Amino acid sequence: MAVRSLKEVSGNSQVMKVRNKILVRNLIRTESPISRNKIAKITGLSPSTVTGIVRELMDEGIVWEVGSDASTGGRKPVNLAIKSEAAGVVGMRLQQGYVVVGIMDLNNEVRAQRRLAIDTSRPEKVVRLISNSLPELSLEANIPLDRCLRAGLASPGLINIETGILERSVNLGWQNVPIRYMLEQALGMPVYLENVSNAAVLAHQLYGQGIGHSNMIYLTLSVGISAGVIMNGEIFGGKGGYACEVGHMAVSTADGFVCNCGNKGCLEGLCGLKNILKLMTSYSSRFKGATVPASLEEMVIEVENGNPLVAAVLEEIGAWLGIAIVNLVHLFHPDVVILGGELTLFYERLAKSMHQVLVQRMLPEFRSRTQIVVSEMLDPGLIGAGAIALQHVLNKETILEQVP
Ligand SMILES: [Zn+2]
Repeated sequence: MAVRSLKEVSGNSQVMKVRNKILVRNLIRTESPISRNKIAKITGLSPSTVTGIVRELMDEGIVWEVGSDASTGGRKPVNLAIKSEAAGVVGMRLQQGYVVVGIMDLNNEVRAQRRLAIDTSRPEKVVRLISNSLPELSLEANIPLDRCLRAGLASPGLINIETGILERSVNLGWQNVPIRYMLEQALGMPVYLENVSNAAVLAHQLYGQGIGHSNMIYLTLSVGISAGVIMNGEIFGGKGGYACEVGHMAVSTADGFVCNCGNKGCLEGLCGLKNILKLMTSYSSRFKGATVPASLEEMVIEVENGNPLVAAVLEEIGAWLGIAIVNLVHLFHPDVVILGGELTLFYERLAKSMHQVLVQRMLPEFRSRTQIVVSEMLDPGLIGAGAIALQHVLNKETILEQVP
């Protein structure tokens, strides 16, 4: 057996030290309140190693003592918790016509957020608006801006995560926008990008209906239609991270309006919000006297009014979405398909025809093993953007330099 050099051995022990510190810090973050003894039991580290790491974390201002459990005899064990507001991240979610900006703490809890309306076709204006919103958000979040350490952006479109360039978003009207560089210059912190459906599926895996599952699909049903897929616990991006652009999956040879991408027969060209509104106009002659809604908000009102035109269109859309889900389930065999986005407001109206298609066309072996659920998260894209930024904070040995 080769004898390793002293330098190599000490290098490895340094790696172990960093790994142990991150392990203990993450355990306190996820399991708090937790005692030093319990940390030692769970991690298998010696009590003295745990005590040393905890002292370091307390000196950094990241961990504090939060009282003790009832004594079972002897000295009461003191519990520890993460000081979640000691640092934070910026989460951003971009959508046609607005951007949501939030500041999250070390537990990825949203401390403050704004939904800012803007003409999103001008990237430089979007970046300026985000940057200008941060001082006020930081005050509200009670996390100083210089302690917001990383930022994550969830955006629609084809994003090259390596170059930081949003290569194309038909909904935003962007092409080859170096959005990561622009945001890093404006915000003064490292920025990480992710497709909004990928961010949303990650949020569900960490905090929502995907907990405990390794294979899942999040389907965004909105102005655009897209999917985020987690396979074997990891986001499935395919070559360049572009996989699962299901909105432009060809589901028909001729039906539907021209999609934003220029083709006909795309899923988004049939079931995207704009196309649903167009479909109602084109069917209106069949439903004389029925109001034709011109927006999502008007659709909500008309559904409540029992408008037969809206009901007929939603029934047709439900069937198309059923076809999309059948295809996705046969391709990926997920444990769960989570439906999200504004169109889920109409889930009750979409569900009947959707489930008829699922029953008719999905192989029973798949149908019995895949759950279809509606997302219960308010803004999974934003939460996912925060989670991505936070991962890059929490994998560092020291979150902050020592706090006075
Ligand atoms: Zn298309």
